[in-house]
Amino acid sequence: MNGQFFISLLNPGIGLLFATAFFLLWLNRRERYVAYAAGAYTASAISFLIQDVGPVLPMELQRLPANFGFLLTGVLFAAAIVKRYGLPVPWRAMAATVTVSITIFLWFLLGQPSIAARILSISIGAGIIAIMVVRALWPIEKPYIIDRALFWVAALSALNLIVRPIILLSLGGGFDNYVGFQQSVYWTTVQFSQAMVSILAAISLMVAVAVDQISELRRQAGDDDLSGLLNRRGFEAQAGAALRRCLDTDRPVALMIADLDHFKSINDNHGHAVGDAIIAAFGAHVLAVGPEEMVAGRIGGEEFALLVPGAGIEAARQLAETVRTGLHAACADRIPARLCPTMSIGLATGAPGTTLSVLLHDADQALYEAKRTGRNRVRTFTPKAVRLAATAG
Ligand code: GH3
Ligand code: MG
Ligand code: MG
Repeated sequence: MNGQFFISLLNPGIGLLFATAFFLLWLNRRERYVAYAAGAYTASAISFLIQDVGPVLPMELQRLPANFGFLLTGVLFAAAIVKRYGLPVPWRAMAATVTVSITIFLWFLLGQPSIAARILSISIGAGIIAIMVVRALWPIEKPYIIDRALFWVAALSALNLIVRPIILLSLGGGFDNYVGFQQSVYWTTVQFSQAMVSILAAISLMVAVAVDQISELRRQAGDDDLSGLLNRRGFEAQAGAALRRCLDTDRPVALMIADLDHFKSINDNHGHAVGDAIIAAFGAHVLAVGPEEMVAGRIGGEEFALLVPGAGIEAARQLAETVRTGLHAACADRIPARLCPTMSIGLATGAPGTTLSVLLHDADQALYEAKRTGRNRVRTFTPKAVRLAATAG
């Protein structure tokens, strides 16, 4: 046993460690790309083990599974990164690259033995796969540091795979046989640079998993599962931001609060499940009829708020009427039509300097008026001063 033996354990060790880590992450979060990453590190660990530690086959033949494993590592790793962005994984192009690399490799193993040519065939094959990742990520937006990090890891990996063997072989002049290969400057450099790229890639991917998980949690924290709209917290955050954008650019903006009429009696008489079905139907209905920019949330049990950027009072009133009158048809898909409730809606429009809480308060006043004057209607908030002037005049 010598120092070289421990260096040999470096890559299998790193591979197994990260394979386990990604597998555990995958158990938690069944994302395909995390599974690919676990697969890549497993393949890497096994390949380095076959290559360096346990000669299971006659020396020469052992090269085939080991090198196939190296290519498989590249393929799975490329799939992991590309899949994270929801981009199509270039399976065919990668399979073709692996086939060509392995064919050339076999020729220089069995036909015209040359260690240098074999090294080049596998290394350049893996490099081409890394370039496919670089190409896939090149045009897409990279809003976060982690997106740029993943891109540069792929670029670094491509560079490492293509340039490293060319330089080292041209300096060292290649190998005649495997005597001393394991101890050579070339193989030691491969092991170290591979270990570095491997660690860098794993850390980047793990940070990416963490970033994705946090943004997913953040999204879930703002969502209401039953209605498919935002919950109160999500609504306040998104509507607040949308309102400020409108006011800053002098765009009209309207807010409505919709409340289901006599909802308690539906629950009491027909059960909570019917009530839930109505809330779900309302959510789907609002999303179907509202404009894309609308921010819609369930801000109370059977109370909903809709902020509509760009809508003046008339457009808002029309949308409110569409929401109100369409509810019946939307519910009838899910529950007996006679159980569909009506709804009352209060409307308010944004004036310069207003805030979300003022708008919510105004729309709530209008909703109260709609309820007071008989329900199943839309009412618009009128400031007190205007109401007084109207009475006086
Ligand atoms: P109004 O016309 O004045 O609005 O009368 P209402 O009965 O709709 O109003 P009230 O505020 O008295 O009752 C609201 C009811 O909404 C109470 C509760 O049973 C029901 N509710 C609140 N959240 C949920 C929910 O998530 N699912 C179901 N099924 N019912 C809910
Ligand atoms: Mg109600
Ligand atoms: Mg209510």
